[in-house]
Amino acid sequence: MSSTITSMAPPEAGGEPDRDIVQRYKARLQALGYCRSLTAKCLRTILHLITWLSLNGAGIETLDIRVLHHFLNHDCACPGPHGYRKNLQRGGWHLHRFLGFLMETGRARMPAEIEAGGRVVEAFLQSLVGQGYVPDSIAAYRKRCRHLIVWLYLHDIALVGIDDEVVSRFLSHDCACVHPHFFSRGNRFVGSRNSRSRIGVFIDYLIDAGIAPPRHTRPNKEHEVLLHQLGMTLPQQPAPRIST
Ligand SMILES: [Zn+2]
Ligand SMILES: [Zn+2]
Repeated sequence: MSSTITSMAPPEAGGEPDRDIVQRYKARLQALGYCRSLTAKCLRTILHLITWLSLNGAGIETLDIRVLHHFLNHDCACPGPHGYRKNLQRGGWHLHRFLGFLMETGRARMPAEIEAGGRVVEAFLQSLVGQGYVPDSIAAYRKRCRHLIVWLYLHDIALVGIDDEVVSRFLSHDCACVHPHFFSRGNRFVGSRNSRSRIGVFIDYLIDAGIAPPRHTRPNKEHEVLLHQLGMTLPQQPAPRIST
């Protein structure tokens, strides 16, 4: 990108490629009743984001929750006011709100993986409706399944790659998942038993629908003894490859 970061101008100045979007966002914040100081703080964070994107050769249209995750965790050496580097993590909620604004105004798109995952979730929920589940229960399933879809996207895991190990990681993750217009996090996620059973029903659906692979059932010790008594042996596991 040809834009020189070191000359990044404040939103009031002209000539920057994303001046229009910054100005429109400023108008949005003002319409929402943000006070002057909070508006200035939010716009500083947005300018920091645009600076960082430019340093990485990317435009604002590339923004999604994965990119935001990288931004929120970057080791900041961006040129710009010292305030850029302060309280970056605390600005996470605001950056996701900005991403929602970009989506509403057609400057950023919902990732194809999230859209496709959302369609699978809705098909699953329809199957629950057919089984007589009540609306409150459907809503609870939707929230947890969409959460899984967002977490999978953040970790670049496809639905077809889901297995017990992936589900265990999901149920024990330290949650920072959110996606504008798709999933808003409520109370802190702790992988409750409630989530575990609901996600389990969803995984069963994915397996039955042929989307996720069948569960790999490893024989346990008792099973091994039984096989031995029957004169059967387990398939030989390939020796681990040791790299030198
Ligand atoms: Zn930075
Ligand atoms: Zn999460």
